[in-house]
Amino acid sequence: MNTDRHDDGTHAFAVRLMQHLVVPTFVLDAERRVIIWNHACERLTGVKAEEVLGTRNHWCAFYDNPRYCLADVLALGQPDELATLYAAHTEPSECGRGLRAENWCVMPRIGERLYLTIDTGPIFDDQGKLIAVVETLRDMTEQKQAQIALQNLAARDALTGIANRRSFDSALHLEWARAQRESQPVSLILADVDYFKRYNDNYGHPQGDDCLRQVAGAIAAAVYRPADLAARYGGEEFAIIMPNTNAAGALAVAERVGERIRTLCLPHAHSEVADHVTVSVGVATQLPVKGKDASSLIGDADTALYAAKRGGRNRFVAACGEADAPALPA
Ligand code: GH3
Ligand code: MG
Ligand code: MG
Repeated sequence: MNTDRHDDGTHAFAVRLMQHLVVPTFVLDAERRVIIWNHACERLTGVKAEEVLGTRNHWCAFYDNPRYCLADVLALGQPDELATLYAAHTEPSECGRGLRAENWCVMPRIGERLYLTIDTGPIFDDQGKLIAVVETLRDMTEQKQAQIALQNLAARDALTGIANRRSFDSALHLEWARAQRESQPVSLILADVDYFKRYNDNYGHPQGDDCLRQVAGAIAAAVYRPADLAARYGGEEFAIIMPNTNAAGALAVAERVGERIRTLCLPHAHSEVADHVTVSVGVATQLPVKGKDASSLIGDADTALYAAKRGGRNRFVAACGEADAPALPA
């Protein structure tokens, strides 16, 4: 630490001033050593000023492992690091000479995950030389959690808890565009519960709802890759979007869907194809070419689903010229 500055009355005044701020704030010198760590920062992080003053250990108040904080990024002049270090950040030019970013921080001392909005700004001497960097922190955890809950409400189907039609539409749009850029195939599964109207008529609507919940759970459980999305497409119809997946990969997922539904063993006394609930599945795969949009993939999957229904239900059929797959065992 720069002891000259420590002895300096100006520094002492700055420290006292900072202690009055309710905003958690710390200051690094040009060598990135902590020269001020105010009371509000102690309260937020659980780390006392004397533990970090004169060190570069400020990261340990926020993270489990050594890494740069926003003030370090600014002091080192490395704004390119922002995208890899932070969940969100503004472009450097948007905050003048400072930086703004947001992150989930693990806060090892207080043992609580917090979502912090972080601002940092440079302090220059009369000659324009960087002498310090100030970092201020705002705890936005409650707002972030509320935002996530709202996003979940907007993205999830209320009955089954899996992704809803709106999420499906936007995910398919994004994945289609990505597949076009990367010349990768996209696959789509549409699965429709067989004779579901009779199920409702026989067991009642509430039990029909419960059946749909279980079918949704089984379909979601058939999806292993994080990039794949299982969604309720509408009514008793479900969909799975599989980016970077060829026809063989999609058929493997369709087979798993059938297995999972079979394992549920939900009695269906009025089905004509089995004594339990079954689904018919249409599978489509396309390499998105310019001029085609995602509706052609939906069209293929829908045609294949229709063929599975016409072919006797409780089976999957692949589009794209693939031969009819064998019926799912009843
Ligand atoms: P198919 O084998 O040809 O698919 O026949 P199906 O009876 O399954 O198809 P149909 O389209 O005739 O009936 C679908 C039924 O799904 C009718 C509708 O009331 C029911 N349904 C749609 N959404 C829900 C829901 O959220 N809860 C319940 N319980 N039933 C629903
Ligand atoms: Mg239907
Ligand atoms: Mg149906």
